[in-house]
Amino acid sequence: MKEDIWYTALRNRMVDGQIAARGISDPAVLDAMRRLPPRHLFVPENLRDSAYDDCPLPIGYGGATISQPYIVGGLMTALIEPKPGDRVLEVGTGSGYQAAILALIGCRVTTVERIPELADLAQENLKQADVEDITVITKNGTALPKSEGPFDGIITTAAAPDVPTSLTALLADDGRMVLPVGDRDLQVLTCIHKTGDKLTVSHHGAVRFVPLIGAEGWTQI
Ligand code: SAH
Repeated sequence: MKEDIWYTALRNRMVDGQIAARGISDPAVLDAMRRLPPRHLFVPENLRDSAYDDCPLPIGYGGATISQPYIVGGLMTALIEPKPGDRVLEVGTGSGYQAAILALIGCRVTTVERIPELADLAQENLKQADVEDITVITKNGTALPKSEGPFDGIITTAAAPDVPTSLTALLADDGRMVLPVGDRDLQVLTCIHKTGDKLTVSHHGAVRFVPLIGAEGWTQI
């Protein structure tokens, strides 16, 4: 394995060139992505040298990917405006990278993954990266009981055909949720801000995510 100093340099270059350069300015997000988590520990060993590249990478299990750092990590984190102490839910744990960034910002993180092997892998990655206090649940993320909420922020890193009402129901007042909404091949990054009973929707560009599987998503990968 290469020395940490090498990966630190790559990580700083990633934050400057891909995240800050594209307009993400929240210091907490930039700081978390710069400090840690070591993204190279969240990708398969043979892809470590590509871990800080400007693209998604495969992590196995039915086409799951660790997303492009600008989208997951940078933009999606910034859009929910996380603050230390916030309760945040992630649907689609995958490698655990996004969950780690939220934890480093000081959020109380629950992350849900439907594939048990990926939930185990994420837990291993988080342990290796020394990120603690994340609750990883193996379950369909759109079948959580209302008693699991409310959450100040929800990040869904799998694409849904519509905004899942099971998830907006878990949002706290003044909470924000971000997720890709569209068809299977192309979606729009969509942010929902809940104030009382009102949901205000904003759009943040085209993205391509793996499908959300389940009643409020698609039936198959
Ligand atoms: N956030 C991840 C990337 C996730 S890829 C990271 O930081 O690396 C999307 C993940 O969503 C996949 O692991 C997939 O298995 C999971 N997924 C798809 N539908 C789901 C559902 N209904 N509930 C929970 N997880 C789901």
